[in-house]
Amino acid sequence: MALMTGEQYVESMRKMNLQVYMFGKKIDNPVDHPILRPSLNSVKATYDLAQDPQYEDLMTAVSPYTGGKVNRFTHIHQNTTDLMNKVKMQRLLGQQTAACFQRCVGMDAFNATFSTTYEIDKKYGTKYHENFIKYLTMCQEKDYTIDGAMTDPKGDRGLAPHAQEDPDLYLHVVERRPDGIVVRGAKAHQTGIINSHEVIVMPTISMGPDDKDYAVAFAVPTDAEGIMMIIGRQSCDTRKMEEYNSIDVGNSEFGGVEALVVFNDVFVPNDRIFLNGETEFAGMLVERFAGYHRQSYGGCKVGVGDVLIGAAAVAADYNGVPKASHIKDKLIEMQHLNETLYCCGIACSAEGHPTESGNYIIDLLLANVCKQNVTRFPYEIARLAEDIAGGIVVTAPSEADLRSDITGPYVKKYLVGTKGVSVENRLRILRLIENLCLGTAAVGYRTESMHGAGSPQAQRIMIARQGNLPMKKALAKKIAKVEE
Ligand code: SF4
Ligand code: FE
Repeated sequence: MALMTGEQYVESMRKMNLQVYMFGKKIDNPVDHPILRPSLNSVKATYDLAQDPQYEDLMTAVSPYTGGKVNRFTHIHQNTTDLMNKVKMQRLLGQQTAACFQRCVGMDAFNATFSTTYEIDKKYGTKYHENFIKYLTMCQEKDYTIDGAMTDPKGDRGLAPHAQEDPDLYLHVVERRPDGIVVRGAKAHQTGIINSHEVIVMPTISMGPDDKDYAVAFAVPTDAEGIMMIIGRQSCDTRKMEEYNSIDVGNSEFGGVEALVVFNDVFVPNDRIFLNGETEFAGMLVERFAGYHRQSYGGCKVGVGDVLIGAAAVAADYNGVPKASHIKDKLIEMQHLNETLYCCGIACSAEGHPTESGNYIIDLLLANVCKQNVTRFPYEIARLAEDIAGGIVVTAPSEADLRSDITGPYVKKYLVGTKGVSVENRLRILRLIENLCLGTAAVGYRTESMHGAGSPQAQRIMIARQGNLPMKKALAKKIAKVEE
């Protein structure tokens, strides 16, 4: 089975025995839980769209490992066209879901681990690359969703992993056995983990020789013994539990999800280990994964931005001001910012190059510039959307008030906009804007734009490293005819 249908994917998740906790209680059926289901629907969209002939080129690729058609989310990039198609696919999915569709972390972990394991083996004669190819072929054949787990809790940020008072604040090996290793620790902010079949765990920072036990990468099923997931709260999440849960949630069908994932002495068999003590390669894996994920944001956030820009334009129509010059100019500004992000996503892909292993990697400088812009522009786009929508975006009465016999007539009378537009439709658009800027989707659009794939300073360090300032100084001296 090379491609699952959306329904098959949902059923495959239903069969998993995940240990999911929310509000202090175990959730026995995360697939059908009203707070969690929208996030599953977003991942399901990655399967549904892959079945649609009009998106075949974007959503699927031919794998050199299975020889067959696979979902692009499990693909190893073979050229710069693959890299660009990845970004286009992410924009498409952002447009269709207006949420984080979660499956990219696995795709980015796949490509980073592929090339890094090749280089470790070359130096040490290990078998990580062989392990990894076997693993990825299995995932492609089963059309799995894979989570990529990088961020450790980190404790005292000024201390190295081995120097932490609690040794578990970075995930580490606690036991080495002939048949594998046992790991303990946690990974924070894990996007989509509850909707994934597998998880690839990677280190979160560069490491020194004393961090040997912390330099570890591997894959396990998400329901492996010892894994526990604690769902992250999102603003307005319990609106999905209310009696009227269509309008106020803003986006009733799709969403994203993050969790704190605890690894309580999880066993990893030898053939699922991709790094084990080769500390100098931790940094390479981190840098490559982060680079790919910073590229990703030039696609997904742009697609969600398209929806937010559209929502702001509809709000302006409903308010009767689509022709006001300042409104038109604000919509132009939003589009300018959004397309600038897309330019960065495409540019770092077009300027990609092959790694030693043969797969393609983005231009790291441009990918970091892409993500640095993402830490800013969606905030400005959200600000302009709130400006255009008006204060009603945060003061509008609830859907229950709209439906009530007592308050409904007043809500309908006084929240009216232009002639012919129903108050219900006006509320729907306002709630979508609220959702993207301040509600459950704000995790994926706003704050994740800041911190996802690394906080702004992480990109500035990479820009400093990749920017080649000495070359630029030499250019200036040459033009100015400076002789030293
Ligand atoms: Fe994909 Fe974007 Fe979500 Fe990351 S934030 S998993 S790139 S949709
Ligand atoms: Fe993310």
